[in-house]
Amino acid sequence: MKKLSGKIAVITGGNSGIGLATAKRFVTEGAHVVITGRRKDQLDAAVKEIGDNVTGIQGDVSNLKDLDRLFSEVKRQHGRIDVLFANAGIGELAPLGSITEEHFDKTFRINVKGLLFTIQKALPLIPDGGSIIMNASIASSKGLEGFGVYSATKAAVRSFARSWTADLKSRKIRVNAISPGPIDTPIFGQMGLTADQVQQFKGNIVTSVPLGRMGSPDEIAKAVLFLASDDSSYITGIELFVDGGMAQI
Ligand code: NAD
Repeated sequence: MKKLSGKIAVITGGNSGIGLATAKRFVTEGAHVVITGRRKDQLDAAVKEIGDNVTGIQGDVSNLKDLDRLFSEVKRQHGRIDVLFANAGIGELAPLGSITEEHFDKTFRINVKGLLFTIQKALPLIPDGGSIIMNASIASSKGLEGFGVYSATKAAVRSFARSWTADLKSRKIRVNAISPGPIDTPIFGQMGLTADQVQQFKGNIVTSVPLGRMGSPDEIAKAVLFLASDDSSYITGIELFVDGGMAQI
């Protein structure tokens, strides 16, 4: 029996990295998956790569009108959302002393406001007993140089998991955060570093990982599948670390 047979799942930022790997896993496990992303060409390529049982809807999670359009389309096509993976996010470097208002606003606008309204606007479509998973990060449990604002957004996400578990308890909707360690995805190319600096960054960061390597997007997807499926039926409000041990020692 497949773990998500007949389920409807929505994954924001499902056209790349962790979101794309999770979409593939969910489809393999019997779900129909709606993925979102900002860029139409990337979204179309991802839909093609995933193959069957997938729909792409373009949109920016920090734009509330885009979210309204997304969920009205999901409602029209499917009528409900059994699993919501609020995954879209950005991470740019800015050490204290060089944090601009623009960096602060952009990072909070996408990682916190975007995630919050994604979930709030999806709520009417989520049946009692549904599963919400939010992509947080080990960054909020560590002191990572240059990542102050990013880490603070992820601390907010972790906090939402606790509050919203309480808010949604009467509906038995489970709300969990997943906290990846360093995962090899395109996000590192968008931090504002040169290609050489990215390689150096990746080389440095693995020295802090007990398992001695970066994780793959599919290693996160497997854990998201666990939180999405009935295998985690008695788990809510947690932060599940999938980090090669990085934030555990
Ligand atoms: P990625 O760059 O491959 O994917 C990010 C996705 O988010 C893309 O699909 C992008 O289009 C989407 N996105 C970004 N801003 C958006 C917006 N405003 N509206 C809609 N979509 C938007 O990177 P990833 O590593 O797969 O990141 C996914 C999530 O995982 C992020 O929330 C990130 O913070 C988190 N994370 C990543 C790592 C890591 O090491 N890669 C570690 C911890 C947490």
